[in-house]
Amino acid sequence: MSCQLCGAAEAWDHAVAPREDVVALCATCAAGLAGEVTDGPHWTCLNEAIWSPEPAVQVLAYRLLRALNTAWATDVLDIAYLEPEVLSWAEAGMDEASTPHRDSNGAILAQGDSVVLIKDLPVKGAGFTAKRGTAVRNISLVPDNAGQIEGRVDGQRIVILTQFVRKS
Ligand SMILES: [Zn+2]
Repeated sequence: MSCQLCGAAEAWDHAVAPREDVVALCATCAAGLAGEVTDGPHWTCLNEAIWSPEPAVQVLAYRLLRALNTAWATDVLDIAYLEPEVLSWAEAGMDEASTPHRDSNGAILAQGDSVVLIKDLPVKGAGFTAKRGTAVRNISLVPDNAGQIEGRVDGQRIVILTQFVRKS
């Protein structure tokens, strides 16, 4: 059976926790669900998968879109419709890691966004202060901590608390 998310030819059965329904997944989709998910053309398959007539496939597409947490993935989720029961199934299998990263105003931050620092931040260990108003382009989201992002300031990659940034 081919991958039920992306259609790749080689796929293996995976149970969709916390239920026991089984979905066939390729290695890439399975790795994505295990947390190794970065934005890329592979995931355009989710545009269709989220509308699958099979609830288990919708559940996986939903979890991947949430994990991707990019502007386009948020758009897909905004228009998607999941039956309430399917939605609670999808959310039951997700952990804290999928809490969205939000800036100081509560706006959701995505991988690759640009932000501005809203206060001077001393950078521990690097011996400099990142100044208020500094623009940080192409941020990364720290996966297991919704309160932290990473970005490059003065040529150094630093961890920044989301409460001290504003999306630009
Ligand atoms: Zn796949």
